Amino acid sequence: MNSLNIVIIGAGASGLTAASNIRKYDDESQIIVFTTQKHVAYSPCAIPYVIGGHIDSFNDIIMHKPEEYLRKNIRILTESKVCEINNDITELTYEDKKGNKQNLKYDKLVIATGGKPLIPPIPGKDLEGVFKVRTVEDGEEILAYSQNCKNVILVGGGAIGLELGSELAHKGIKVTIAEMMPQLFPRSFDKEMSDKFQDHLQGKNIEILTSSAVESINGETKVESVTIDGVEKPADMVILSTGVRPQTDLAESIGCELGQFAIKVNPHMETSVPNVYAAGDCVEVTNAITGDITLSPLGTTAVRQGIILAKNLAGHEIEFQPVLNSTVSQIGEMEMGAVGITQQEAEKLGIPIVVSSIESLSRARYYPGSKPLYLKLIAKTDGTIIGCQMFGQEAVAERVDTMTAIMSQKLTCDDVVSMEFSYAPPVSTVVDPIAQAAAECLEKIDALDDECCCECEEESSQESAESDECPVEENNNEEIEKSSDEECCECSDESEESGKEECCECPEAEDSETTSEEESSDEPAEKTTSFTEYLRNQGLIN
Ligand SMILES: Cc1cc2nc3c(=O)[nH]c(=O)nc-3n(C[C@H](O)[C@H](O)[C@H](O)COP(=O)(O)OP(=O)(O)OC[C@H]3O[C@@H](n4cnc5c(N)ncnc54)[C@H](O)[C@@H]3O)c2cc1C
Repeated sequence: MNSLNIVIIGAGASGLTAASNIRKYDDESQIIVFTTQKHVAYSPCAIPYVIGGHIDSFNDIIMHKPEEYLRKNIRILTESKVCEINNDITELTYEDKKGNKQNLKYDKLVIATGGKPLIPPIPGKDLEGVFKVRTVEDGEEILAYSQNCKNVILVGGGAIGLELGSELAHKGIKVTIAEMMPQLFPRSFDKEMSDKFQDHLQGKNIEILTSSAVESINGETKVESVTIDGVEKPADMVILSTGVRPQTDLAESIGCELGQFAIKVNPHMETSVPNVYAAGDCVEVTNAITGDITLSPLGTTAVRQGIILAKNLAGHEIEFQPVLNSTVSQIGEMEMGAVGITQQEAEKLGIPIVVSSIESLSRARYYPGSKPLYLKLIAKTDGTIIGCQMFGQEAVAERVDTMTAIMSQKLTCDDVVSMEFSYAPPVSTVVDPIAQAAAECLEKIDALDDECCCECEEESSQESAESDECPVEENNNEEIEKSSDEECCECSDESEESGKEECCECPEAEDSETTSEEESSDEPAEKTTSFTEYLRNQGLIN
């Protein structure tokens, strides 16, 4: 490989991962990385836990110093802002930490500028005591200011806001979380899951207000109160955790095509401008379930994109795949996580689905310390799992990862019910909650099929036997119609030949768990035992 000048704008998860990985394949090229910040190679994800005291100091979350990168021949220019790029002459202008403007040539440019906090135009947002949370510096300021605070208002009920809120509450500060939407985690949870989660969180020094707009932040020079839905609440600190917006200005300035939300890249992480790549929070991605364009402002996505970008830049052809947006979070004593799409989203898109919501346990029910685990599964009516949400005090993250693997392989509820899971009483249940929820979805799918078959039977006994049309025409759910049609046709074929009795033997209508006693009984057929009932009867699940 020829020696190149590779310039990376951004020393966050995507930029630094790209730099280190490019160096793995290429000893020769010059790699220069810019950041506007003082620190590099830290985990923003850990900021709330330093503020809460679970991690001793911000130094602990800074994993490498610029000098360590220099040993790998990667030069990082901290507190240096790229102000302008002239791509016609492949040169950029930056302002260094002393305020001097300098120019730098490049052969390949990587834009990894991340996102910037979305600050709502609330009156009083510039008062002393109002903070955003994005960088270590923000975290340090929040920690210092919060030492003398009694009442903190957190604006935004997403994972970061809740992590931060529960960490401050853990230190004895009274925290109010105000969310404009009617629920917490609007992107990851359906409302009923969010409501259940909220019930568990509320009360521990935390008040949660949903459907609540912050109207103003009040005070002479610093925060004294906040008006939420017309009610003035005392406050000495406000933290805005209202999301991030992709930072795309530099990319736009050189003509990189923007998509619906951010910089448009191909699966090789190339922008529309030759020799210009992009990765991380500043690019948009494809949703693996819906095929729609979306954002994935996650450290995990940024790192994976950095690796893939580096491989492509080094000449290896490798594609970034659509995302499932697998997320987890530790909020107070609760772990929450989600992957795929919500029921609400599926319904909005008109995807025919079944849903199961179960309350299971994290360990064998007799094992001391076993904790409730709430899990919701969303599956298409053909059985493919497309979404999962869960929370509990333990054993959530690993299950979210299992679900991510299941969904990335496009497995069905049938596959999951017969899948092998590990088990030992102190750490899991003999039938994993995931398999329980999948079984419940399967029962619902079977019930849809049965419903169709029964309607089919009635129609075929009432109407002419010649009709081979499926009677469930009114059903506006296309996919159910389709799958039902198949069974109904089998069903009506049977009934055409030998009438209603035989139709009851339609194998689709039979529950696979039917016992031999039930089969031989002269009594009218009892409701057969479902898989979940069977497990319950055996004492294997709750
Ligand atoms: C509090 C918090 C908690 C989080 N928790 C999680 C979590 O638990 N799990 C998870 O997966 N994700 C989490 N995230 C999200 C995750 O941190 C981000 O998705 C990830 O850091 C994005 O990386 P990035 O490289 O795209 O951008 P960033 O890390 O934002 O880096 C952007 C870089 O670009 C530089 N830059 C921008 N413009 C210029 C310019 N003009 N000149 C020079 N440099 C420039 C910046 O200085 C910075 O170095 C969290 C984020 C925050 C803030």
